Amino acid sequence: MGLGAAAGGILRGAARGSLPSLWPRPVRVRFAPSPTGFLHLGGLRTALYNYLFAKKHQGTFILRLEDTDQSRVVPGAAEGIEDMLEWAGIPPEESPRQGGPAAPYQQSQRLDLYWEAVELLLEKGAAYRCFCTSQRLELLKKEALQSQQTPRYDNRCRHLSPKQVAEKVSQGADSVVRFRLEESVEPFCDLIYGWNRHVVASIEGDPVILKSDGFPTYHLANVVDDHLMGISHVLRGMEWLVSTSKHLLLYRAFDWEPPQFGHLPLLLNRDGSKLSKRQGDIFVERLAQDGYLPEVLLDSVTNCGSGFADNRMGRTLKELIKEFDVSRIERHSALLDLEKFSEFNRIHLMRRVEDELLREELVAELQTAVEQAYGGQLADREVLEKSYVQQVLLLRKGHISRLKDLVSAKYAFLWIRPSVPHEELQTISAEADRIGRLVLGLLERQVAALTTEELSKDLRRLQEQISGTPYSGMMKLLRLALSGQPEGPSVAEMMVSLGPREASMRIQRALCG
Ligand code: GLU
Repeated sequence: MGLGAAAGGILRGAARGSLPSLWPRPVRVRFAPSPTGFLHLGGLRTALYNYLFAKKHQGTFILRLEDTDQSRVVPGAAEGIEDMLEWAGIPPEESPRQGGPAAPYQQSQRLDLYWEAVELLLEKGAAYRCFCTSQRLELLKKEALQSQQTPRYDNRCRHLSPKQVAEKVSQGADSVVRFRLEESVEPFCDLIYGWNRHVVASIEGDPVILKSDGFPTYHLANVVDDHLMGISHVLRGMEWLVSTSKHLLLYRAFDWEPPQFGHLPLLLNRDGSKLSKRQGDIFVERLAQDGYLPEVLLDSVTNCGSGFADNRMGRTLKELIKEFDVSRIERHSALLDLEKFSEFNRIHLMRRVEDELLREELVAELQTAVEQAYGGQLADREVLEKSYVQQVLLLRKGHISRLKDLVSAKYAFLWIRPSVPHEELQTISAEADRIGRLVLGLLERQVAALTTEELSKDLRRLQEQISGTPYSGMMKLLRLALSGQPEGPSVAEMMVSLGPREASMRIQRALCG
């Protein structure tokens, strides 16, 4: 039976030190997003740091969905977040989809646990029912604003007697439950920001922990779940740093051992502006569809920040785990340069092409992409053969940033025969026919071992036999004959990619009348 399911008495029996199986604590960390939209790079980074920390310390990485604010829940977002973590290669070991010993992992399915926790706090006198109407709260707010004070609840219902409470309950009055904030707050040492202490009671009124709809607020649910799920370290966004003292007061009220906290600095755009949901290019799903590799996203969101001894590009997940050190996370915001994504992808794609197993996957992916893009127009079905597609990858690695670049117009010549603009060829050189024949001779002699370097040298030498056409003109001519495009890879590279037979055939058709 899971921790959650066994909750009938687990909260009451869970005072400090009474969970022998969880103490001393194994490392258990969680990523706890609210399913209010697609996973973006900021969320991915928080998840990744948790994942790296878990892997580094032989711990467990957990996904918990914080959906207590039902009005903000977006249908499909929960599945989307877990899909993207799996796609990125950092799947949670315990999650709504995977299940696990602390199930359920979705807060809306854990309401009985929060109610039990609230009962416990009410019994201890650490929480109280509040019957203030929204009109009264609105009035308090207005008054505060008029006298230029920060609005805060005045804790009026703290002072209701048990009899008054019972009376209101019997009259069916609506209520919420508030947590009684203590003045005395102990400092805590954040893994990243060092010593911290916020005397919450001097700035806020007692916070609501259970709303009138029966749902807990974030502060309560978060503490109860981190405790029941045996979370040892909380690594989360720095916007929660100021709330941590409040959470620690809750831990103290329950008499539970708190986890260790580490707050992650913000992830911002290169110009220091906030990542905005209006920027389509910060969503993981969109980047995946655009052809970025998972390791590119992981590398980019950690490269711009910290947690590593150096700032080099191109780390794989394995290297990230090996080199990660939480004490190296710096306090300043991390700046993300979206313009560098192509370069990151170029580097990682090259690594994949060089790895035999990963290359096989790329071959299959490219075959599908070619079929989809060119289908009926293919030069020859042979262009879909594994050996040809593989050769294209090996020759083009380092020159392309995304696999799908290979089906763009620039590389169409690899898959379809160009329609050659004959008149244009004639205007480039009157010697088109002679050049064509010389190149055909060259290709014939070179059939056995065609390499880009040798071919380049041979083409240079060949040009010396032609008086009226400069080298650049000859290249332009051959490029058009081979690809129908004015730009693209070098002529020698094109010939090597196409192979001598196909290259000869194209030159013959285009140049040799
Ligand atoms: N649901 C909170 C968020 O999305 C989680 C904060 C936390 O990790 O404690 O920011």
